[in-house]
Amino acid sequence: MEDNRKQERKVKVKTLMKVYHFFWKYRRIDSIIAPLYYILENFSPAVSTLILAGFFQEVYWVLGEEMRSYSRLVTYGAGFIVYLIVKQFLQLIASISTNAGIFEKTLYILNEMLSEKASKLPLITYENAEIMNKKEKAEECVHNDRIPSIFMLSVVLATSVLGTGTLIITLGSYHGFLAVIAIVSVAQFYAATYFQEKKKYQISQELTKEKRQRDYLWSLFTDEKSIKEMRIMGFADYLADQWKKARDKINRKFWKEESFAHRNMMYCEFIRIAGYILGISFCFLLLLADRIEAGVFGAVLTAFVNVQAVIKNHVTSIGRIPVFLEYAKDYFDFIELPEEQEGTVNIGEKIQKISLEKVFFRYPNAEDFTLHDIDLEIHEGETIAVVGENGSGKTTLTKVLLGIYGAIGGTVAINDIPINSIDKKDLYKKIAYLSQDYMIYKMSLTENVVLADLPENAAEDIKRIVSKMGLDDIAGSCGDISQIYFGKEFGGIELSGGQAQRLAVARAIYKAGNLVILDEPTSAIDPIQEAEILSQIMNMVKGRTAILISHRMSICTKVDKIIVMKEGAILEIGTHEELIKKNGEYMRLFKAQSCWYES
Ligand code: ADP
Repeated sequence: MEDNRKQERKVKVKTLMKVYHFFWKYRRIDSIIAPLYYILENFSPAVSTLILAGFFQEVYWVLGEEMRSYSRLVTYGAGFIVYLIVKQFLQLIASISTNAGIFEKTLYILNEMLSEKASKLPLITYENAEIMNKKEKAEECVHNDRIPSIFMLSVVLATSVLGTGTLIITLGSYHGFLAVIAIVSVAQFYAATYFQEKKKYQISQELTKEKRQRDYLWSLFTDEKSIKEMRIMGFADYLADQWKKARDKINRKFWKEESFAHRNMMYCEFIRIAGYILGISFCFLLLLADRIEAGVFGAVLTAFVNVQAVIKNHVTSIGRIPVFLEYAKDYFDFIELPEEQEGTVNIGEKIQKISLEKVFFRYPNAEDFTLHDIDLEIHEGETIAVVGENGSGKTTLTKVLLGIYGAIGGTVAINDIPINSIDKKDLYKKIAYLSQDYMIYKMSLTENVVLADLPENAAEDIKRIVSKMGLDDIAGSCGDISQIYFGKEFGGIELSGGQAQRLAVARAIYKAGNLVILDEPTSAIDPIQEAEILSQIMNMVKGRTAILISHRMSICTKVDKIIVMKEGAILEIGTHEELIKKNGEYMRLFKAQSCWYES
């Protein structure tokens, strides 16, 4: 228990150091100006008192002595005006530096670091709910300004120690007991703030997943596709209900805590007021006992109220900082997650061989292996079909062989170079990959195919590929295909599901990769066009290594090699004739589909 606390304290100090380091690194000038201002502000009452005392002394002398020169009076007067101007000026600079520099700009930087980190995480991370929760917590820390708040609270605390000490000593000089009452009567604010913030943090932690679910449900009401579906299927009311339930469940927990916190604060205020009454009574006693003069009675009471206010402010800050540090830790935990290991080895001009040896793979948080004991070799120029029932591991296999997901056991190599040491940016330039979750961008047709500016003389090439993909209906009549835009919001064309898929295939075919991987390239295309599109695809990938994943067995008669997968393992490998002869799983799948056509 004691050890745990020590450890927790250590972690908090470390996080605090990270916060300071962050400000020193990214907002150096602001992080100097803010503390400097607060230090100067502490001297402000003393400086103004000194100048004003001198001024009034001079006034007194000038009025009393006829021959006295006005020059010192003018100097003090001018000094006071300069003091006021400098104070205003410093206040302005400090306020800009705090609001714009420490809070606003920090928000941009923290957000930028967050999205940069998200873009550099290994892609498998996005399959990991735990890490997505971490991201949510880091975002919460940023959006609630926790990191700049820690900095400012600690700066104000540290820089006001001197002023607060002086205030307490002044009150104590009238009577020590007064100082004790003033401090003790507000000490409870520390515990109240600490536990209140801690509880809020705990609830927020517990509800991270629920909050993501709530936000997901909300996003369905802003997504065009889901809006259409929910309307047509009469699903909108149900979804709205689910969203309200999710929202209310979260809000109820927070409101309950909020009302508890308000009640606690009220009790704290009662104690403070009781302390104040005790303070006044004690002052009266001192007055009656001639321990203080009637003239300073008011000053003592003011000092008492000031001490209460300042200490209350301090203890609430002290109560907040430890919990805010927990939010900051969540942020730094996410920022410090290991990034995708970038290899440096260039595989050469072409992908000549892909080899997988005893490869195992499991998704984060999944109990079973999705791929097990995979041995496979693919050579340049081969066309391969990967078939198998839904969920047999076909998509996962391609992602592992491309190094998108790292294998847990075994080795994946390209041109005999282990995938982890390969420079992925260079590797992916040589690969055209069509995943099942392809995107159609609301941009021009050419941008959708090239994913960049249209290169010189490429228009004809694109037109040819687009035409072979049966998209003449959208491109054929238009002389300048760079003028065809998608997205009705921008006055463009809307594509049907099949057209969108054919466009995505065109993109993969256009890319000058010597390895083409197409994951279910014809799943949205109608059966009449499917055979034609498949044969066009086979023509266009000629000479390149091609891996085609499909649940349509008809593709298998056109490829060099078929890989049959079942429950994450490769069950059979061979040509169509070999596997038919074998009369195993392939035969079963083939028969199951061919009977549709026979009947
Ligand atoms: P196929 O492409 O053959 O349909 P997949 O490779 O997509 O199969 O999926 C193989 C198995 O892995 C399935 O059982 C699927 O449920 C599981 N799976 C896919 N993605 C994830 C994920 N992100 N987390 C856990 N399991 C997953």
